[in-house]
Amino acid sequence: MLLPDRKEEATRDKRKYKTVKYNIDSKSKNKYKGKTFYLKTYGCQMNERDSETLVAMLKQLGFKEEKDYRKADFLLLNTCSIRENAHNKAFGMLGRFKHLKQTRPEIVIGLCGCMAQETSVCEELLKNYKFVNLVFGTHNLDKLPILVDKAFSSDERQIEVYSREQDLVEDLPVIRSNKYKAYVNIIYGCDKFCTYCIVPYTRGRERSRKKEDILNEIDELIKDGYKEVTLLGQNVNAYGKDLYDDYNLGDLLEEIAKKDIPRIRFMTSHPWDFNDKMIEVIGKYSNIMPSIHLPVQSGSSKVLKLMGRRYTRESYLELFNKIKEIVPGVAISTDIIVGFPGETEEDFEETMSLVEYCKYDNAFTFIFSERKGTPACKIEDNTTLEEKEERLQRLNEVVNEGFLKHNQELVGRVVKVMVEGVSEKKDMYYGYTETNKLINFTSNKELIGGDIVDVEVMDAKTWSLDGRSI
Ligand code: SAM
Ligand code: SF4
Repeated sequence: MLLPDRKEEATRDKRKYKTVKYNIDSKSKNKYKGKTFYLKTYGCQMNERDSETLVAMLKQLGFKEEKDYRKADFLLLNTCSIRENAHNKAFGMLGRFKHLKQTRPEIVIGLCGCMAQETSVCEELLKNYKFVNLVFGTHNLDKLPILVDKAFSSDERQIEVYSREQDLVEDLPVIRSNKYKAYVNIIYGCDKFCTYCIVPYTRGRERSRKKEDILNEIDELIKDGYKEVTLLGQNVNAYGKDLYDDYNLGDLLEEIAKKDIPRIRFMTSHPWDFNDKMIEVIGKYSNIMPSIHLPVQSGSSKVLKLMGRRYTRESYLELFNKIKEIVPGVAISTDIIVGFPGETEEDFEETMSLVEYCKYDNAFTFIFSERKGTPACKIEDNTTLEEKEERLQRLNEVVNEGFLKHNQELVGRVVKVMVEGVSEKKDMYYGYTETNKLINFTSNKELIGGDIVDVEVMDAKTWSLDGRSI
């Protein structure tokens, strides 16, 4: 049994990590033929991407995917720990699995991902969730075949969670969930340690993939007919810092933009690491989508300091304005936390005024959720949950008005849309604009996924657009 240790998770050193190639033992291939797995994923795009690899590894072992957990032989939850409600959802699902285990004791139940990296979660699983057979973290996902073997062949519970990142593994198998759009990891982990956030502990230090490995993966995707790639990382703007003296996200984006790929996206950008070269490159290439997720978290410099965000309201706005000026037609979206400990009504008003100024194209808004062991837990919090909920509601009203206004400005305009498929709305297709807005539209010719078509916007709602292809 190997349990995570928070102190070790927080440690950073200059130790060089190795890049190694994934290799599956030929004896393991198809070993579980006839068995099925059920996988449920919580959380961010990084987890979704990890699940694409988990699915591929399980299929190499011979498992078939089963969408109904009640019928599966191996049930796995890939979890998220960013906020309390993510925890609650996973524990709720484990509750359902418990009932199943009573009638089908032979099934194997597993939990992996960010929650597994938390000592308190592992302790809870050990004490109160004795029916969970397998727990592994974010640092040994590539060891799934070995772990599955141990879990299926032994009655002992398998808990293997490393506190520190291991080698960076390339050539992991992947079965992508979308045929036209692909996620490509460019950097793992996070070194920012925002005081509220658990990610630096659960995902380890920042480790960039070698540029050759990323570019090769993109070449393969182009060969396979992919039309859009999204470069992924908790903080993509830190790409390369740990590997190269003079090669960053701007350089990487430029090399990718010169390839024959129609759409390039990237997320998430921490404002702190955004440099002029990146903005210039994003503005220069038409296949780099003018859509940037730039989390602000708060409009108050005092709160930003408490959050450890390393920028002020003023420097954020300077960056925001520079991007708007240099990248034509750019859509900027954001994340905001309300009710951070120490946030007064005046601080919240500063967030409201910043949001009114920025008129974001999209915003994800959250109430602060205390994460055990993070520095924010120690800051005095005098605001009640009711007050926080009321602030969130006021904020959402303003941001939603902003989304509608942006969408209304598009009515009558022609936008480029990548077709995703047939819409749930009768006789319509759906897809996304360059600025990542969902649009349902009619077309008088048959379209297939991945086509990029001109669509005239006819109507605007808060969350989507309606149009017709021309
Ligand atoms: N790396 C990204 C960045 O720095 O902007 C964010 C990644 S995090 C998965 C997504 C969002 O979750 C954050 O931007 C933040 O708004 C929110 N978040 C993180 N920790 C939180 C917490 N303890 N309570 C509430 N929201 C939180
Ligand atoms: Fe969390 Fe901050 Fe890292 Fe984003 S940059 S993952 S919010 S610590």
